[in-house]
Amino acid sequence: MINTTFAVDPANIPAVKRWLAAQDDPQGQLRSIDIDEILIGPGVLLDLPFVLQRAGVTPGSKVLMVVDETPMLREDVDLKRFVRDLLYVAGYYETTCHLENDEYGLVHAEFQDVEGLLWGLEPGTALIALGSGTVTDIAKHAAYLYDQQHPEQPRMVYICIPTANSVTAYAANMAVLLKDGVKRTLPSRYPTAIISDLRVLASAPKAMTLAGLGDCCARFVAYGDWYLASVLGLVDFYSEVPLALLNNLDTILLEAIPGIGQRSHRGEAIVARALLLAGIAQSVVDMSAPISGTEHVTSHMLDMIAYHHHRGLALHGAQVGVATLTAARLYQNFLDNFDPEAVNFDSCYPKYEQMQMRIYRLFQPVDPTGAMAEECWSDYCRKLTLWYQNRALFEQFCQSWQSIHRPKIASLVRPPNVVHQLLSQAGAPLTAQELEPPISQEEFDFAVNNGHFIRARFVLSDLLYFLGW
Ligand SMILES: [Zn+2]
Repeated sequence: MINTTFAVDPANIPAVKRWLAAQDDPQGQLRSIDIDEILIGPGVLLDLPFVLQRAGVTPGSKVLMVVDETPMLREDVDLKRFVRDLLYVAGYYETTCHLENDEYGLVHAEFQDVEGLLWGLEPGTALIALGSGTVTDIAKHAAYLYDQQHPEQPRMVYICIPTANSVTAYAANMAVLLKDGVKRTLPSRYPTAIISDLRVLASAPKAMTLAGLGDCCARFVAYGDWYLASVLGLVDFYSEVPLALLNNLDTILLEAIPGIGQRSHRGEAIVARALLLAGIAQSVVDMSAPISGTEHVTSHMLDMIAYHHHRGLALHGAQVGVATLTAARLYQNFLDNFDPEAVNFDSCYPKYEQMQMRIYRLFQPVDPTGAMAEECWSDYCRKLTLWYQNRALFEQFCQSWQSIHRPKIASLVRPPNVVHQLLSQAGAPLTAQELEPPISQEEFDFAVNNGHFIRARFVLSDLLYFLGW
């Protein structure tokens, strides 16, 4: 039985824009949502030619479709062929760009793929991403760079057709790409339109929808991280508008679990809406913080280790789900046991040289060239500088822990039993060993303990590290 509803329906973009305009934003920090339309429904893929026409791309125009090598179905029909035929019949000149899978059957979001795609773009060509996270990130960023390089031309029409309910990337105006082997979130752009066809989404492997559920779960811990970073002076912007946009997310997802299990259109529609709103939630504040904290740095670290060992990667959202469960347990432990009176402040400020050495030693086995350590340190040292500079804020934080911060953080994060209930009832992986391919507990623990060294974003594990926990 589904009773609870989202704050606003992402398939009604005018309503989403009105909702955003009605939010409190005294300093004008919220960004506009530059998506023209989002279609969600069992047959909306058939509207693709009309979506192109509404975006000003008339029949006879060129369309470049980006896909990977994964075979895809829409029920019992070959999906890529279906889309090609649809465009052909409507009078478009379609060419396909095939991103090559690696030996493990995966495409990585590398900068060179973005640049390769950029070469094939011409004025007046529309770009269609028909794929999941990586295809979306590559196509989106190529469209973004094209727009940057051609400011005199109208914004490129870029249509996103998600082929799985697996990640929050579709509606987000940022892209995650590899830089020196390290995952980085870069400013990018919104799609002109998103076509979430429920027949397509329900035909993807179930593990992908479960991964999408895992990626959404990040919200239940990441908000605590963002709040911590804000009160400790590690980030200068904090807003609860994304939180309001994802209001009741735990209840909505829990109610949808039976439908998700049956792969019903209704269940897929809920996950699709949650993922699209999560993408919009990060975009309106121009940072991934509302849905990316300790759990995402853990997942990124696991990916970096897997690249190093030339292993296939587990699905991003499945990994994030498992890491969210761990992060929720860390939060519970912190809320239950943190005693500000016992803090030895002097020991919370390790020296620069000590931290630099630590990071170089940490990444030496993963990347002996030192490029990865260099990339991580360049980001981490900015965080360390802010941590030193804002010692007074940490002292105030400790003084008002019981009266202000403890109850506030408890209201922002969800307890581990809620995350566990969501993942377990859906049948999603709960431990690193249940991931595909499985990850050893030792490697997972390493990623949990060290993920916070890879980037500038301050998360709970940074605080736990400085506290010597
Ligand atoms: Zn994610």
